[in-house]
Amino acid sequence: LGVERANRVLELVRAVPDYPGPGITFRDITGLLADGDAFGHVVEALGDVVRAAGGVDLVAGMEARGFLVGAPLATHLGVGFVPLRKAGKLPPPTDSVTYDLEYGTATIELRAGTLHPGARVLVVDDVLATGGTAAAGAELVERGGGVVVGMAFLLELDGLGGRERLAGREVTTLVHVE
Ligand code: AMP
Repeated sequence: LGVERANRVLELVRAVPDYPGPGITFRDITGLLADGDAFGHVVEALGDVVRAAGGVDLVAGMEARGFLVGAPLATHLGVGFVPLRKAGKLPPPTDSVTYDLEYGTATIELRAGTLHPGARVLVVDDVLATGGTAAAGAELVERGGGVVVGMAFLLELDGLGGRERLAGREVTTLVHVE
C-alpha cells in the first residue's frame, strides 16, 4: 500500500480506547469506509496482492465487517462472495465450526454446498487480532470442501499472536498497528 496511503488509512481508522471493554482499543473502520478514495485504494491494494499470488475462485468474508471488505474485493476481482455467518442467520443446511472466545464460545456457519470441491478461497476480515476468528473461518471453508489459499485483513494488531495463530497460511495485512 505505500507509506502515504497506509498513513491515510491510519488517520481514517479511529482508535477508541476502552471499547467495548476496559483495556481494549477498538479500531473503528467506518471512517475509512466513508472515504471513497481510501476505501477504493485498500480494495485495489488487496486485489493486487491476490492477483499476484495467482488469484482465487471465491472470497469468503467473516460476519460482519469482513463482509464490508470482502464483498467489494470479490467484485473487484470478478469472483463470487461467500458470507461466513454467525450461528442462526443462515437457513439450513449449514456447515459449522465452534471456536473459543475469551469468555465462552462462538459458532460460525456456511451454507452447505456453496463451495465446489477444491474451490480456491480467500478468507477476509477487517482486523486480525488473536487470529481465532480467522482460524475458525479457514476451518469452516475447509469443512465445506474449499482450499484456503490466503487470508487478508485491512489491519493487523501486532503483539496479539494472530500471525502465529495462522502460521502456515498466506496472510496479507495492509496496515500494522501496535
Ligand atoms: P480475533 O479473533 O482475536 O483475531 O479477532 C478478530 C475479530 O474481532 C474480527 O472480526 C475483528 O473485527 C474483531 N476485533 C478484534 N479486536 C478488535 C479491535 N481491537 N478493534 C476492532 N475489531 C476487533
